Amino acid sequence: PNRSNYIGRFAPSPTGPLHQGSLVAAMASYLDARAHHGSWLVRIEDVDEGRSVPGAAQGILALLRTLGMDWDGEVVWQSRRKQLYQAAAEQLGAHVYPCGCNRREIADSRLGTAPDGSAIYPGTCRHGLAPGKTMRSLRVRVPDRAGHADLIAFTDRAAGPVAQHLASESGDFVLKRADGFWAYQLAVVVDDAQQGVTDIVRGADLIDSTPRQIYLQHLLGLPVPRYLHVPVVRNADGEKLSKQTGALAIAPEDQRQALGALQASAAFLQLPLAPASSVGAFWQAAIPAWANRVKPPFAAA
Ligand code: GLU
Repeated sequence: PNRSNYIGRFAPSPTGPLHQGSLVAAMASYLDARAHHGSWLVRIEDVDEGRSVPGAAQGILALLRTLGMDWDGEVVWQSRRKQLYQAAAEQLGAHVYPCGCNRREIADSRLGTAPDGSAIYPGTCRHGLAPGKTMRSLRVRVPDRAGHADLIAFTDRAAGPVAQHLASESGDFVLKRADGFWAYQLAVVVDDAQQGVTDIVRGADLIDSTPRQIYLQHLLGLPVPRYLHVPVVRNADGEKLSKQTGALAIAPEDQRQALGALQASAAFLQLPLAPASSVGAFWQAAIPAWANRVKPPFAAA
């Protein structure tokens, strides 16, 4: 039962099984929600239907149950919410424009890449489709370089003050992709607001997306949630864990294996916990341990 105004969420993309890296993000969001006596929602981010793996979402949900992570309310599926994304794009009106450029043309303009690796868009189609081009994607206009609206700033609960210049560090970004699917940046903003999410707890690999999401929240007149980005599990080569390298070997209902995975994730999050005897006992200790943590990097405030 939600005894506070806090609403958190875990939003996995069903591109494969839950792995040790995504379990850390799931655990942090779950602990933060429970420590605040809030709700914890699960949303399946299958907006990119080309990358969704059949059965992966069901596997993730079954594993969350085995891990003792019970969510509140119904699971939400992005693939069933396209009308909401369409309505938001319409609401953005003249901030949105059709773009006919392909990847190579954008890369050729050599403006560099945004922190997430996408090439910065030179604005070719800003004032109308360039001659001879047909629409491929929809983009949202970001403020001009010099204007004060160009700088988006927020305070992350772990990283502290974060700021990004949208024009130079992102450029006009895609809301609807050339393959016809709505982009993550739009879907996540629409869904978090529609579900009343107050607190976003997720991996630090997404912190560079947050300014673009806050920009969309501003344009759509939506509240800006609090953000906590937690460290991302990396392998020995410093790479983010993938389905191949971080797969969790947990048989359905295997409580001993589940407990092992939970304890490994809690150790990664630096929770001071004694070994637990069961999944239930683990959570009984972990929730207050998270709540009582006072020092950064994961201040529970
Ligand atoms: N679906 C995203 C992922 O699995 C997470 C999105 C989010 O938490 O905002 O990486």
